[in-house]
Amino acid sequence: MADIRLKNYVYRKTKDSSWAEVFQNPCQVTVRNFQTGTVKINRKGTLNPDHPLAGDIQEEELEVPILVYWVHHEEKGDFLLDAGLDASYIMDPHGGLEGWAVDEFKLGEHENIAYYIQYNDIKLEMGFLSHLHADHAAGVRELPRDIPYVVSKGEYDAYQPEVHGDFLEGLEELYEVDFSRATELPPLGPCVDLLGDGSLWAISTPGHTPGHMSFLVNGMDGPILLAMDAAFTHENLERGVAPSDYTWDVEMAQDTLDKVIEFLREYPQVRVGAGHEYLK
Ligand SMILES: [Zn+2]
Repeated sequence: MADIRLKNYVYRKTKDSSWAEVFQNPCQVTVRNFQTGTVKINRKGTLNPDHPLAGDIQEEELEVPILVYWVHHEEKGDFLLDAGLDASYIMDPHGGLEGWAVDEFKLGEHENIAYYIQYNDIKLEMGFLSHLHADHAAGVRELPRDIPYVVSKGEYDAYQPEVHGDFLEGLEELYEVDFSRATELPPLGPCVDLLGDGSLWAISTPGHTPGHMSFLVNGMDGPILLAMDAAFTHENLERGVAPSDYTWDVEMAQDTLDKVIEFLREYPQVRVGAGHEYLK
């Protein structure tokens, strides 16, 4: 594993004390998604079968999109939320990786993240990664080396490049958001105003991985919560049952999902995207 310097992502604590206040000041920021291939997941496990609300869930293979979000800010430029897959998956479903834990993905031509960046003539300022699983981070391998990449503090410590592959290869630095210093915005808990103007937020949503984070884009068309893998599909949100597959701590993932659902109930104007389903 290459040496990587971990740096603190510097942010100013928000003065807002509620999401209602945040939503009073929407910003000139838009979000669009790219699909970098698909992955097969099992419905049983996407919904934790041991949860009382899960009912009798049958095995069912679901082929779901792998999503990346492009955030465009009028003044501050272009940002990525997650990196999806890189071109190495077009020819090889394992992306050139070996090992027992390597996942299988399907990627068409011109579906890799660098293609979208080039095609849309995006000049990236920064990449925020919800967590370090292949379908969310492998694309970093073909993205610019000279911009900051940001994860939540604790995520890199649990990262296993020797098992899953080194998506951060060649990066000299990785920035970490330290949520322990962040303002609590109920009911979600610690939230960080990433760009300092209330336009783009990181929300600590641990469980799927130790340092998983979700995002909120506070644009003129209304707020959008991007849950990332805190909910794989909208069914997690509708049933109130968190995933158990690929999940580091199932109980914690459920706690997190409960908070997200409470937030959506409190703020029905928020649109929501699940990690592996298009925005509704
Ligand atoms: Zn994941």
